[in-house]
Amino acid sequence: MHSDQALTERRIRKALERRIRPEIYGPAVPLTVSAWEAPGAVGFATAKAAGYHPFAVGERWGAPWSTTWFALEGEVPPEWREETVEAVVDLGWPAGSPGFSCEGLVYDAEGGELKGLAARSPWVPIAPGATAVELWLEAAANPRIDEAFPLLGDPATAGREPQYRLRRAELAVRRAAVAALVCDVEVLLGLAVELAGDDPRRATILRALERMLDRLGPGEVAAGAAWASGELAEVLAQPAAASAHRISAIGNAHIDTAWLWPLAETRRKVARTLASALQLAETEPDQVFAFSQAQQLDWLRADRPALYERVRAAIISGRIVLVGGMWVEPDGNLPGGEAMVRQMVYGKRFFLDEFGIETEEVWMPDSFGYSAALPQLAALAGNRFMLTQKLSWNQTNRFPHHTFWWEGIDGTRVFTHFPPVDSYNAEMTPAELLHAARGFAEAGRASRSLVPFGYGDGGGGPTREMVAAIHREADLEGLPRVAIEPPARFFAGALEEYPDAPVWSGELYLELHRGTFTSQARVKAANRRCEHLLREAELWTATAAVLHGTAYPAAALERLWKQVCLLQFHDILPGSSIAWVYDDAAAMYAAVIEEVEAIIAEALRTLVGEGGETIRFNAAPHRWRGVPALGAAAAAQAPVEPTARVEGPDAEGAFVLDNGLVRATIDRAGLVTSLEDLAHGRQALAPDAVGNLLMLHHDTPNDWEAWDVDGFYRNSHVDLTDAETVTVDDAGPAAVRVRRRFGASSIDQVLSVDPGEPCLRIDTEVDWHEHERFLKVAWPFDVLAGVATSEIQFGHVQRPTHANTSWDAARFEVWAHRFVHVGEAGWGVALTTTANYGHDVSRFTRPGGGTTTTVRLSLLRGPRHPDPEADQGQHRFTWRIHPGAGIADAVREGYRTNLPIRSVTGATAPAPLVRVDGGEAVIEAVKLADDGSGDVVVRLYEPLGGQTTGVLVPGFPAGELLEVDLLERPVDTPTGALSPDRDGSAQLRLRPFQVLTARIRRAG
Ligand SMILES: [Zn+2]
Repeated sequence: MHSDQALTERRIRKALERRIRPEIYGPAVPLTVSAWEAPGAVGFATAKAAGYHPFAVGERWGAPWSTTWFALEGEVPPEWREETVEAVVDLGWPAGSPGFSCEGLVYDAEGGELKGLAARSPWVPIAPGATAVELWLEAAANPRIDEAFPLLGDPATAGREPQYRLRRAELAVRRAAVAALVCDVEVLLGLAVELAGDDPRRATILRALERMLDRLGPGEVAAGAAWASGELAEVLAQPAAASAHRISAIGNAHIDTAWLWPLAETRRKVARTLASALQLAETEPDQVFAFSQAQQLDWLRADRPALYERVRAAIISGRIVLVGGMWVEPDGNLPGGEAMVRQMVYGKRFFLDEFGIETEEVWMPDSFGYSAALPQLAALAGNRFMLTQKLSWNQTNRFPHHTFWWEGIDGTRVFTHFPPVDSYNAEMTPAELLHAARGFAEAGRASRSLVPFGYGDGGGGPTREMVAAIHREADLEGLPRVAIEPPARFFAGALEEYPDAPVWSGELYLELHRGTFTSQARVKAANRRCEHLLREAELWTATAAVLHGTAYPAAALERLWKQVCLLQFHDILPGSSIAWVYDDAAAMYAAVIEEVEAIIAEALRTLVGEGGETIRFNAAPHRWRGVPALGAAAAAQAPVEPTARVEGPDAEGAFVLDNGLVRATIDRAGLVTSLEDLAHGRQALAPDAVGNLLMLHHDTPNDWEAWDVDGFYRNSHVDLTDAETVTVDDAGPAAVRVRRRFGASSIDQVLSVDPGEPCLRIDTEVDWHEHERFLKVAWPFDVLAGVATSEIQFGHVQRPTHANTSWDAARFEVWAHRFVHVGEAGWGVALTTTANYGHDVSRFTRPGGGTTTTVRLSLLRGPRHPDPEADQGQHRFTWRIHPGAGIADAVREGYRTNLPIRSVTGATAPAPLVRVDGGEAVIEAVKLADDGSGDVVVRLYEPLGGQTTGVLVPGFPAGELLEVDLLERPVDTPTGALSPDRDGSAQLRLRPFQVLTARIRRAG
């Protein structure tokens, strides 16, 4: 038999697109359109009362970011009474893209949200029997922000040019039989072309489609569609193979909380998407929609109470399932330990308070890597499962598992799934399902995977076409079996069949998007600052509440934490959003800082009372020179410090800073040529190397400018070794100021040593006006460090400093929180930072032996997309170099660098509200319980990776002392880490990196 497969496939495709699909809609009548350009986002009542002007199909509308309301009116012809009628509107969507352009939300005459409009879902149902139609369409002219048009991402530069053209607005009869036939043909053809050329199933499907087309003549589609589907019933009835892979499909819409649009627009995207999801649930009894971000529901609650109540009903009835239990889907790397806790606590509590539902899985499909602290935090928040997806974007290595136990730094394991469909916006095509089944790494041991389907962002979520495809694909020869079901059911089934899944230990590093540790540096700095200010605010207000009976500002603190959590969203904190988002973020951070500082100041005033003494407050978890951890001391009682001094310049123009603990030499170029650790009698810097060397690289990644740093950036750089001036500075007793200019930018640094502090401190101000450049500062140390230790949430990770394997080589740019440490047996050095996360560590062997390990902090970039002015302007960084530091020192100094001592004038220095005597345990948070009971909650952890003991001592009359979870609920099975004593204190026994939350009731 001669093969005609290619010819037949082309014939079917052409018939589908030219003859069958165009017949889905039958007779049509135009809607009468009038329009009103709104001044912004307005409520329905305002819009309905506005003055409209006639508007014709074909006219242009929509300056960037503007909103146009369209009033749509029409009469349903009497002869359509028995038909399915829909309003079909084409706002002018660009071909090919399901989202990322204009979007609409359609209301009925009373302002009820009917359905979102998007490129792949441009219709609204008309109630059966309706005669007159009155619809109101709120259309948002969100511009497409691609590489060519980044200026559209800032309203100041976006212009007023209309972006879209109204192409269609009519009432039309929808022929369900034709739509069904389209789906039949799409599924069967999509399946056939995925099968091998010699697969009999492929031939059988093609012959069936051919027979159907042979008999369905031109012009016969509308009348013959049902009959034609009947011709295909047999091939659609062939069941899947007994060993077929099983797919749990779940509708979803990945709505980025801000990205190529501002936060305000996300509020409307959420409303459109949920209105569409509710509409779909009405017509598709088996459809289930997953929703993950509590913040987005909180917005809906505030903006649209009626729609929110409908969503609530759907959540209660199970048609919308909550997943994730985090406030937003945050960045997976950079949020601090307590912030990551709050993401989970506020997310879960919102779901519990609003709906009585506790989610059991972490849902982070799109974050740019996942911290090895997450398994423990997930478990402590009551989660059993985790979903990620992003590692399918790895540039170098293929992640070996799709279902696995993910083990964190403390040994906690969480059952994790990584959908092999490699998408969280699936359309449920046979190609996608087979990609999932064929790529499933656990085949033979497990049989299940999850497919999140639905258009994300502006696309509107799952469609009726996707659900129709699933109905055909449910049990179909050649495909995996497919069922729509909640993720919880998937996870339960996956765990049951695969309890001994393989283990992946440590971080899930994304081998891409490494620039996100550095881009939009001001956001990183503000995030770090806010995290520490909130720690201080909770500590001092809790202390004041317990010691003085003042009111604890619980509501304000929660609101402020939620702002910080919101800005940790996985396109805001990483630096990958448009300019508008960063303008908003800057204003929000400034407001948070102002309010938190005021809260702190008031609490401290209460604590010191009226008086004339200088009282020093130490919010860090370690004692500092006479000031207890989490407590205060009068400055007069401080021990006498050795002095620090500056010498020079000498004949070479060099200066020496010396405080008896470290001695640093700064040459006439502002470079550190010597850094001596006087306590250990050791030179920290490598021979013939200089520290504080600023290095400027070309930074032109192939794709995703704000996101990526490609490895070739290392091939070219200039060292900034010209100093304009190097002078003694009066910033402290021993300080040198270095000024440099380069390109259009300048850098002003103060290098100093403080009395009693065994470190060199560097305060850096950069006025940055470079684009496509990557600025680093290098510190080459004379130390053979096999690994670098980087702080993460509640602990640290160690990463090799070599590039033996492709996995090591791919980690050429990594992140840390407050410290990076490199060391060898007996000696090491730490860098602590206030604002930097990205860094790289490398080493080389010098001629004649000896090893240089170089730590380079990543300071600034200047990507052009999506914000063409990213990083431009003023920046301020502080870092401290601690020669001789071990990891315990690095932990302590990391807190110290970020929590400077506060001095207040008053009468008394309050004792700490709690303290830990002995051992290594570190207190991360002190607060009053979220339930308003007045209980004191203390979160602490073991930071070094070893067992530790100690005693937790409340500084107030304490009652019962309980181990609780992150939501401050007693744990079912205490770990034994907390053993209360009779005197109100408790013995601590923590395993390596264990996080422990203790709840202390107040006696009396
Ligand atoms: Zn995303």
